[in-house]
Amino acid sequence: MLIEKYDLEVFTPPCEPGAERYAARARLVVDISEVLPYLNATLRGAVYHKAANALTWKKGGHNIAFHAYEIATSNAEDREGAEKELKGLVDLVNRTWERRAEITPDHENHQRPTPMAIFKLLPQTNCKQCGEPTCYTFALKLAASQKILADCPPLVELQYADNLTALQEIVIDAPVIG
Ligand code: SF4
Repeated sequence: MLIEKYDLEVFTPPCEPGAERYAARARLVVDISEVLPYLNATLRGAVYHKAANALTWKKGGHNIAFHAYEIATSNAEDREGAEKELKGLVDLVNRTWERRAEITPDHENHQRPTPMAIFKLLPQTNCKQCGEPTCYTFALKLAASQKILADCPPLVELQYADNLTALQEIVIDAPVIG
């Protein structure tokens, strides 16, 4: 196991004194830098900053950051939720490290596409088949990794083939581990 122990800190961010949302940080005694390219290859919507040796990810409304000696998450409802979220992230790092032989590491920097860039490539019919009221709402959720391309059924129609190809190039739609 890569991360066997860590120091946990749960707090209300200083920029939001009194806010009822919590952030948590795990301070590590091992360097997890080598795991970041494997997380980059497997976490949908992750943004890898190679020069900064950091990877950020959005999951279920949480902003998550992995650094060499630290994992942080934000926007938890309570202290217990923040601790649980962080424990899940530590488990994710350990599982990914244990499975690294099965994963091709990705050392490229990926940028999250803007909602407008995604919207321009969607059918723009507001047909609601994705469960969203408009294509732009869908684009917002796709950019935040809360939807996947397959959630928009019309994209497989022949007339949108070029759009789908372009979307597949800018939207990171890789499978999620964990
Ligand atoms: S299913 Fe696709 S085309 Fe229809 S509203 Fe959603 S994003 Fe737009």
